[in-house]
Amino acid sequence: MNLVNDQYDIQGIPALDLVHEYGTPLYVYDTAIIKRQIDRLKNAFTVPHLGIHFACKALNNINILKFVKSCNVGLDTVSIQEIWLGMKAGYTPDQIIYTPNCVGLDEIEMALQLGVQINVDHIETLEYIGTHYPNTKICIRVNPHVMAGGNEKISVGHIDSKFGISIYQLPLVVRLVQTLKLHINGLHMHTGSDILDAGVFTLASQILFDAATKFPDLEFLDFGSGLKVPYQTDDVCTDIEELGELLSKSFNEFCTQYGRQLKLYFEPGKFLVSESGYFFAKTNVIKQTPSTVFAGVDSGLNHLIRPMFYGSYHQILNISNPKARPRIYNVVGYICETDTFASNRAISEIHPNDVLCFRNAGAYCFSMSSNYNSRFRPAEVMVHEGRHYLIRQRETLEDLLKNQVEAI
Ligand SMILES: *Cc1c(COP(=O)(O)O)cnc(C)c1O
Repeated sequence: MNLVNDQYDIQGIPALDLVHEYGTPLYVYDTAIIKRQIDRLKNAFTVPHLGIHFACKALNNINILKFVKSCNVGLDTVSIQEIWLGMKAGYTPDQIIYTPNCVGLDEIEMALQLGVQINVDHIETLEYIGTHYPNTKICIRVNPHVMAGGNEKISVGHIDSKFGISIYQLPLVVRLVQTLKLHINGLHMHTGSDILDAGVFTLASQILFDAATKFPDLEFLDFGSGLKVPYQTDDVCTDIEELGELLSKSFNEFCTQYGRQLKLYFEPGKFLVSESGYFFAKTNVIKQTPSTVFAGVDSGLNHLIRPMFYGSYHQILNISNPKARPRIYNVVGYICETDTFASNRAISEIHPNDVLCFRNAGAYCFSMSSNYNSRFRPAEVMVHEGRHYLIRQRETLEDLLKNQVEAI
């Protein structure tokens, strides 16, 4: 979003025009920013084969999936439903990675029958696939349990995490692979923690290289994600260019030693779409209490739960009144729980009916929304090549009742 002549715009379209046309609350995604992030990631690495798979749990509108696909980016899925969505968007199974955790065997069988790349994080499942689907190519999700050199900044996969197969169980896995003649074509680690120091991450990746020497049939190594984007102006985030340089170097060296050129995979969600998204809500009330000025908006934790769920920070702009004197607000929702978007936040003076914009609303925002308090979920709009498109209608009462059965 750019501020031009006291007016915010997205690809030249005034944000307030979008709000007037589609109403609030509203999600808007800028495909130019998604493209910029994809290009940044591609340009940061100097390896012969970089494979990017978009973690579609971050943002699963089919138009976004189609756009991402048009940029030659694959899909990272965690459920059979995400696989189906991806295929609806035009993905072929070979472009999809499926990383289930604690899902049933029936679902895993469905995925295998479709032919997606499976990424297994459970020894019994590995055994099952080896026995019943002997020719399947399998990727193994390793949990490296690194607390790198006492550096508290990075903790890649803590010891009591439910994800991955522990690096300490690798000897058992290797025996299983040899006995059942499993075809292991990839190793994976997704630690979930933010990569704040490219050097430390590169050191941790050494664990994956060491593990890789035990599997002769590898085609790729998947470094998961954890690529962090800025939420505030001076936020510490992943220096993707530095990461690309350091990791490419150690990866290329490893491939020489391994004796085969492997593909290097990443599966970012946040990095690709977080900054592309804007959430617009209208101020219903300004409420002054003895201690606080509340700005209450026409949304809440039902539409954007990240601040309440994991304390995440979203910058908030008053786009109706961008140049006014800042005042301090608690921005809250209309839900009958405490749903605070931001506390003690300096925002240009807010009046009732002013439109607030929440930034970094592309990842884990709409995809985590719900109908709590029987509210309708917002509309979604995509701004693409200078034009805007409605890509999801605002819900109606019919949507709330759609699957309800009137039994009496
Ligand atoms: C959620 C997830 C990702 C994406 O994480 P981001 O922090 O959004 O980049 C990647 N891989 C797996 C297996 C995931 O579960």
